[in-house]
Amino acid sequence: MKKLHNKVAVIIGGNSGIGLATAKLFAQQGAKVAITGRNKKTIDEAVFEVANGTIGLVSDISDLNSIDSTYGTVKDTFGKIDVLVVNAGILIAAPFADYTEEMFDQTNDINFKGVFFSIQKALPHLNDGASVIITASTVVHKGFVSTAAYSASKAAVRSLARTLSAELLDRNIRVNVLSPGPIDTPIFSRGATEEQANATKTHLASGIPAKRLGTSEEIAEGFLYLASDDSKFMIGGELLLDGGAATL
Ligand code: NAD
Repeated sequence: MKKLHNKVAVIIGGNSGIGLATAKLFAQQGAKVAITGRNKKTIDEAVFEVANGTIGLVSDISDLNSIDSTYGTVKDTFGKIDVLVVNAGILIAAPFADYTEEMFDQTNDINFKGVFFSIQKALPHLNDGASVIITASTVVHKGFVSTAAYSASKAAVRSLARTLSAELLDRNIRVNVLSPGPIDTPIFSRGATEEQANATKTHLASGIPAKRLGTSEEIAEGFLYLASDDSKFMIGGELLLDGGAATL
């Protein structure tokens, strides 16, 4: 039996990297999947790749009106939501001393404020018993240079999972986070040359006990666990998939 048979799953930030791999796995496991992202072209490509009736919606998580219209379309197409993955996130890395207000606002508008209101605005559209999963990061547990605002935004969403789970207990809605370690995705190439991205990835891999970056597919397996009933005793918790980075 497929683990998400007939479940409606929305993946906010599903057109690239971890979100795209998760969309593929969810669709293979029987879910009706909606993915969002900001770029129409990459969304269209992702929808083609995921197939299985998946829909793609252009939506900016930092724009509250666009979040509303996303859920409206999902409701009209598939009905109420069983699994909400709030995966959208950006990394603007720079030393603390050089971090500008603009960088700070951009990081928080997407990684924290966007996540907060994506879940709030989903509430009327979620089925009781739904699973909500937020992508946090291993940076919640350890200090990494040049990531002060990013790490704080991820600590904020880790906290959200606890508080929202407490508030949503009466509807049996579970909110958990998945915290990946460094994963080989396009996140390191954004705003960087290929050479810089490769140097960052090599540097990160050398600091991980597993001695390599993780793959998006490995993280997607974690999302499947949190989305399905296999994890039904997990509430307000964190699944850490980081090759030992924060623990060893
Ligand atoms: P990615 O850049 O490939 O994907 C980022 C996703 O977020 C894309 O789908 C993009 O469309 C979406 N997104 C960004 N800004 C958005 C906005 N304003 N509105 C809507 N969608 C938006 O990177 P990824 O590595 O797959 O990152 C996915 C998540 O995993 C992020 O939250 C990231 O912080 C987190 N993460 C990544 C790593 C890693 O090493 N790759 C480690 C820990 C956590």
